[in-house]
Parts: sequence; structure tokens; C-alpha cells
Amino acid sequence: MKRDRDDTDFRGLKKMYEKREAGCIFCEIPDKRIVLEDELSYVIRDGFPVTFLHSLIIPKRHVKTYFDLSQSEINSTNRLLIETQRLIDVEDHGVSGYNIGMNSGESAGQTVFHCHIHLIPRRDGDVENPRGGVRHIIAGKGYY
Ligand code: AMP
Ligand code: ZN
Repeated sequence: MKRDRDDTDFRGLKKMYEKREAGCIFCEIPDKRIVLEDELSYVIRDGFPVTFLHSLIIPKRHVKTYFDLSQSEINSTNRLLIETQRLIDVEDHGVSGYNIGMNSGESAGQTVFHCHIHLIPRRDGDVENPRGGVRHIIAGKGYY
């Protein structure tokens, strides 16, 4: 009888998504700090927030950067990013903008080498002149 199956090795796939690294803070985040999650990713508030409600969207699999993510993880982190943004909008009506950022690699400023997406809520007047936003990662290049 013809069976509806192919040769995909789902055990290998499952094993891949279970990759964790001992000693990695984002592999060992306690459940009580998680504000949102799905099967592949989770969200916490940053421990040293740039602004109130600064959040990190983190794939559960231990990979270094966004460029290592599978399409499923990209979809998952993107969904949680949008959901977190919506929740912050509801929680704090003073939020009027966001910066979304990733530091990929030490040269780009990464300090925790487990992929994460920064979602940084912004409020009118939180800096004197916000013009240029993420361009300010290189001092003096923010204003153009
Ligand atoms: P990056 O420099 O892009 O690698 O960002 C690392 C982020 O992780 C920083 O914004 C830190 O404030 C944050 N962080 C570091 N340690 C912790 C921790 N134990 N819990 C939550 N956030 C943390
Ligand atoms: Zn990790």
C-alpha cells in the first residue's frame, strides 16, 4: 500500500532545535522571566534596559546571530516581535516609536553570543534630538 511519507529526518530536526549551551545566559533564562513564548522563541525584558520595557526576542536554539536562524525561527521571532510591540503599546501609552536592533558579531557590539533582537520603546523627549536613530551607533554619524 502507498503510504503518505517521505524520508525527512524529523528526529534530526528536533535535535537541532534543542541545541542549548551550558553557561549561556539566554539558554538558561528562568521561566519566570519569560513574558511571551512559542515553541521556538521567547521574550524577556532586558536586564539593563535602555528605556523602560526594552525587550529581547530570543530564539530558544543556541545560535550566535540572526544569520544563523532557520526560516521557522525567523517567522517565530518576527511574530513575537510584533506581539511584544502590540503589548507594549497597550501597556504604555507614552510610547510613540521603537528601535529594533541586532548586534551581530563583536565588531558590531554584540556582548551575549546567543542571537537576540532588541525592541526598544521610544518616547517623545527621551533624548534631545532623536533624528537618525540607529545611525548613532557610530559616534558623529547619526545626523546626516
Ligand atoms: P548585545 O550587546 O546586543 O549582545 O545585548 C545583550 C543584552 O543582554 C544587553 O542589552 C544586556 O542588557 C542584556 N543582558 C545581559 N545579561 C542579561 C541578563 N542576565 N538578563 C537579561 N538581559 C541581560
Ligand atoms: Zn545560548
